[in-house]
Amino acid sequence: MEKEILDKINKFTRREFSADELFVFSVILCDNEIDRDCERFSDNALDTLRGMFIGKTGIFDHKPSTSNQTARIFDTELVTDESRTTKNGEAYRYLKASAYMVRTEENRNLIAEIDGGIKKEVSISCSAAKRVCSLCGKEKSQGNCGHISGKSYGGRICHTVLDGITDAYEWSFVAVPAQVNAGVTKKYSESAEEKSASSAELPDTEEICREIRQLAFFSGGTKSAEKADSAMKGMSINELERLKKGYEQLIRQHKTEVQLIPEKSEESNGQFRI
Ligand SMILES: [Zn+2]
Repeated sequence: MEKEILDKINKFTRREFSADELFVFSVILCDNEIDRDCERFSDNALDTLRGMFIGKTGIFDHKPSTSNQTARIFDTELVTDESRTTKNGEAYRYLKASAYMVRTEENRNLIAEIDGGIKKEVSISCSAAKRVCSLCGKEKSQGNCGHISGKSYGGRICHTVLDGITDAYEWSFVAVPAQVNAGVTKKYSESAEEKSASSAELPDTEEICREIRQLAFFSGGTKSAEKADSAMKGMSINELERLKKGYEQLIRQHKTEVQLIPEKSEESNGQFRI
């Protein structure tokens, strides 16, 4: 490890760590691609986030309770990939973060997974004060401009541009196989108040299915992910929630095999033994 990197990390630690005690890796936090919600960060927003995410702690698999499995960002960088063009016709630009973990007995397996090159998906939470129509620039909070998100107007996809970032809250990290929903997701809200309000709401089915797939993969690789995929078909939101909890428990217990046996297959309150 270069001394320069070690110096940057030791600015965040209570005591000086040696290179051997640390594990360093990179993640892509967000980019300027139009995402599945038909939104994209402006260049300005990416630059603001670049500054805000330094020093921020990330959690793995949305489990803040496992405090030994956290990583901290010690450096960020905006990278432009001229060889790749976004749906909006711009050069692909992404916010890359360098993070470290202090090596412990507990996170040894996790580090091995990351080191093994398993595809990493990161989700971030931040506040965007401005949300404007990509075609006419009208602020979304000031009413409908008539343009429809996702629709093509003369070859340009209408989307919402997120700008005016006021805060970055957190980032979380899940290991996913390359073929399952690869890429970066983001969560944002217009204000801090709204963020806490929306987090109390039930997540939608698609979101839960995505998380279950990731958890399943994390617990048992591609086979588990496929198994979970077929098990999820036709499940109600309550059943999905339970299944997700089951996987989270499984990962906490460091088990690798999963068995899905619906006790009451026809009822929405069926339990799943894992
Ligand atoms: Zn518009």
